[in-house]
Amino acid sequence: MRRVESDITAPRAPASASGEPSGTTRGHGLLPGAGGITVTPAARSRGAAKPSGTSGHCGGASGRTVEDRAPSDLIYDWNELEPRSCSLEPPAVVELNDETLRDGLQCPSVRQPSLREKQEFLRQLPTIGIGAADIGYAGASAAAFDDVVELAKTIGEAHLAIRPNCAGRTHVHDIDPIADAQQRSGVAIDAALFIGSSPIRQWVEGWSVSALVQTIEKAVSYAVHAGLEVMFVTEDTTRARREDIATMYLAAAGAGATRFCISDTVGQATPGGVQQVVHFLSGVLDDHGFGQAAIDWHGHRDRGLDVMNALAALAAGAKRVHGCALGIGERVGNTALDLVLVNVALLGWKNVDLLNLPTYCRLASEMTGVPIPRNYPVVGEDAFTTSTGVHAAAVAKAYDKGDAWLADRVYSAVPASLVGRHQEISIGPMSGKSNVLYWLRAHGFDPTPERMGAVLEAAKHASHVLDDAEATRIAESAVPARGEKGLLV
Ligand SMILES: [Zn+2]
Repeated sequence: MRRVESDITAPRAPASASGEPSGTTRGHGLLPGAGGITVTPAARSRGAAKPSGTSGHCGGASGRTVEDRAPSDLIYDWNELEPRSCSLEPPAVVELNDETLRDGLQCPSVRQPSLREKQEFLRQLPTIGIGAADIGYAGASAAAFDDVVELAKTIGEAHLAIRPNCAGRTHVHDIDPIADAQQRSGVAIDAALFIGSSPIRQWVEGWSVSALVQTIEKAVSYAVHAGLEVMFVTEDTTRARREDIATMYLAAAGAGATRFCISDTVGQATPGGVQQVVHFLSGVLDDHGFGQAAIDWHGHRDRGLDVMNALAALAAGAKRVHGCALGIGERVGNTALDLVLVNVALLGWKNVDLLNLPTYCRLASEMTGVPIPRNYPVVGEDAFTTSTGVHAAAVAKAYDKGDAWLADRVYSAVPASLVGRHQEISIGPMSGKSNVLYWLRAHGFDPTPERMGAVLEAAKHASHVLDDAEATRIAESAVPARGEKGLLV
């Protein structure tokens, strides 16, 4: 395989379980060698490039301290741009890229799944409308590379409707393994090549934009010549300057990248900011003859805005959004792809069958050891359970009308049937007669006044919602009414 020039052939840094794939947190090897000129954020903001001494190394530029500059020199805040609004116009296209097997496994609390577990998880994706997946960081280790090859083979042999991709730095040592995996598996694998972009990152690493551009051009053209389709990714795009974003993405487009990913690497963006940056990049690409290129959105959930931001990105013109099952991922996680799916389905943006969504989430939980909280939306154990009297009364009345559609929606924004579940009514201190009546009937008991009274009395004095075993015991011990024939069958 052809090798590129020395400026992207520095020693490989293995991926780690902290930060984005490890190369991103190490300045070494990503940039041209020492001796260049670094344009510091402060100098750039004044429009004057100044030599900063040694470049291409991490640890801060030129010995100057961060106190020398204002926060706005280091962090460009797209959230502050006017208008600070978010439109949810239905998008023409909604595509999804699952990152569970790469970014998801960078969650600090996961256990690494076996290949068999990864394969089983991968097979679920097309059943719920996910058409692309990051199948790993091929350059991280020999074991990671082997898994990537096997997962790509799984996709090919089972004819899964999944377009795989692998993350890698703009570095030959990460590009070569992706090309090798594509060759060995016989399955096309997109190279998702990433590089830092924000001024705060440039400052910490001592990077210059001109050096970044050189690296991008060489790495992307190297990957293209190696037969890879390239998705160009900038990290921390949502805190990067407009001019830097334009320069870096146009360099990648000129070198042959066909897909462009905006990353909210630290979970900074608000929905308005998301739409600002998506509109900006789309305009830049359009103005320079790359208007047909696809834009991806890759978000994190540090501010809890992950799902809304993904929807905002789609509405602004991003064709594909990335995420992980259950939002598992780096730090507090990535965009929860399962909840994006639920929302695009409910908004009518994507016609998709979600009956297998609970299985997708369960497998993600089992293979990583990350539990699903009981109160997790849609797939959590409590998602469709109410013990509150007023709510239960409404659901029970709807069922009494013989209308399951009504019962599934009268107190639920997300119908349980969307994911193959049903509404449940439990009995607890906040319950009323409706809960008890519904529960007794649902569990085969004749709702005699004595039984109703005994269960309701016990529930009112309980410190918690009764589980089925407790409620059953109370119902069975209640004195039967005269003439009762016992349990209903
Ligand atoms: Zn990420």
